[in-house]
Amino acid sequence: MSSANRPDWDVAIVGAGLAGLTLARHLLLTTDCRVVLLDKRKDPPGPSQKVGESLVQLSGYYLSKVLDLEEHLCTEHFLKYNLRFHWPTSGRENRALEDYSNAFIRLGSNIATFQLDRNVLEEHLLELCRQNRRFQFIGGALNLEARLDGEGSHTLEFDGTELTCRWLIDASGRGGFLKKRLGLDQPNSIRHGSTWCWVDGLVNTEKLTRRSWTDVRLDRSRQKQGNFPFFLATNHFCAEGMWFWVIPLHGKTSLGLVYDKAVLDSNEVSNGRKMLDFVARQWPLFAEDFAQRKILDEGRYYDFSYDARQTISAERWAMTGEAGRFSDPLYSPGSDLISIYNTLIVDAIRTDGPEALAHKCRLYETVMRVMYEAYVPSYSASYDCLGDRQAFTYKYGWELAVYFGFYVLPFISDLFTDEAFLPHFLRKFGLLGPINRNLQKFLSGYYQWRKTHGQPDAEPVRTDFYGMTPLRDSEKLFYEVGLTGQEAAEVLDMQYERLRGFARWIVAQVYADVLNEPAIASDTAFQERVRLRDLRFDPNRMRAEWTARMEPVHA
Ligand SMILES: Cc1cc2nc3c(=O)[nH]c(=O)nc-3n(C[C@H](O)[C@H](O)[C@H](O)COP(=O)(O)OP(=O)(O)OC[C@H]3O[C@@H](n4cnc5c(N)ncnc54)[C@H](O)[C@@H]3O)c2cc1C
Repeated sequence: MSSANRPDWDVAIVGAGLAGLTLARHLLLTTDCRVVLLDKRKDPPGPSQKVGESLVQLSGYYLSKVLDLEEHLCTEHFLKYNLRFHWPTSGRENRALEDYSNAFIRLGSNIATFQLDRNVLEEHLLELCRQNRRFQFIGGALNLEARLDGEGSHTLEFDGTELTCRWLIDASGRGGFLKKRLGLDQPNSIRHGSTWCWVDGLVNTEKLTRRSWTDVRLDRSRQKQGNFPFFLATNHFCAEGMWFWVIPLHGKTSLGLVYDKAVLDSNEVSNGRKMLDFVARQWPLFAEDFAQRKILDEGRYYDFSYDARQTISAERWAMTGEAGRFSDPLYSPGSDLISIYNTLIVDAIRTDGPEALAHKCRLYETVMRVMYEAYVPSYSASYDCLGDRQAFTYKYGWELAVYFGFYVLPFISDLFTDEAFLPHFLRKFGLLGPINRNLQKFLSGYYQWRKTHGQPDAEPVRTDFYGMTPLRDSEKLFYEVGLTGQEAAEVLDMQYERLRGFARWIVAQVYADVLNEPAIASDTAFQERVRLRDLRFDPNRMRAEWTARMEPVHA
């Protein structure tokens, strides 16, 4: 392109939230692009707090290693200590933490994850970008309009100002700047709502107790749970189809309820105080504490989940973050998908030649779609399992093992942009899809059965998720860094087989419980006969299968 036709900017990004700022940082670090970032807000981040605080391994790796923010993260944000889940014990008052069962991972994650204060991070990212001469931030860009030109340069107009750019990236969050203009909205099957707030000071769940600190310290259950500060976890208090998060930030705590609208009327939790009152009734250990907490800020979404028909195009536009797709906050996939989408977008921007770009955009659209869609059954088919420690332990163990293998492993070796690796990856991931969907429905059936037939825990139970060997072995994938595509494909094949074995083991545990036949739990011959593609939670059929010790049928 002659300099006369050269656009003002190589890349224009709309929206200076987490997605837009991380993308700008990523581009400035790894390309020589000139980047302009526009936001309707004059001087972001501003005083309002934001949700999107809890990182898991993939986004932890992206922010700390790929974007080189390790020092900032370690100094300004809390290191996160995994996820912990809590359930009240029936027959107890549940006014103290010791009354609750919990499930956790005792070991710290070897990929650092963090509890982010979003404003602190976003301010830092903007400051870092501004230190680069190839970057400009334009705040207060109101009434933005775009004219896309797949052949030449795109034009952005706002308040009488015009600029041209080669690539236009929409990171405008729920505003969906491009998605709306291009008619790419698409609904999904997740109908969940959320209300949240931030309160003054640290809500340390370990201190919501009737015991002395000495008794808490010397509690023999620590032999299983360990000594690391429990408050550094994202603590989840669970019930059927809903969960309540407790996330520590420096000097304040983020608290939020997420619920399936089929189990809770949104009017009951229509503001921060009503939500805290509801939570105090549901999980009474919070009652005394919340009565005195000052709410600093709050927010609410009546219905937050949606899809998009397309998020990247060879006509040089793309969407990242909530401007494209959003599933659910459980397990924090939001920042993970930002990390994956940004990685693919940066690679597309670096691609020369229209044919190579067209090929990549087709491939990357598939990757973007499947990485989002694979989460959907976890939220639409089996959210009810949150109500039962046993059903949820199997659900989360399975999901985490899939996550370690099919999300974290390729990401930490830069393989989401390896064109030779991706077809193999997509094929294997595709094979996992029906197994996952069936298992999620099966576990939901198990949960519903346990509601009426299961034995509630008589005493609080402590469960380390790594007690499930296939999950513990999957964690070792964190150390498989720097693999070639070929090596990673071999590891992935092994992980796929491990996951099939894990799914069969989970199914056998459920059969053992439902049929009251403990022998099934360790009957490896029976486990091998489980047909993962034909799972149904039907106790009569399950009984018949066990009695007949089915003829072998391959999954
Ligand atoms: C209840 C809930 C809890 C969550 N918890 C987590 C979690 O624990 N961990 C996690 O990883 N994720 C979480 N998420 C997801 C996370 O919040 C999102 O992934 C993330 O905030 C999206 O950031 P973003 O940059 O896309 O959008 P935003 O942060 O909303 O940024 C969008 C920016 O675009 C600007 N903008 C909008 N429209 C225009 C326009 N027309 N012109 C110019 N500028 C514009 C806005 O001013 C804003 O600055 C949660 C989501 C929800 C709903």
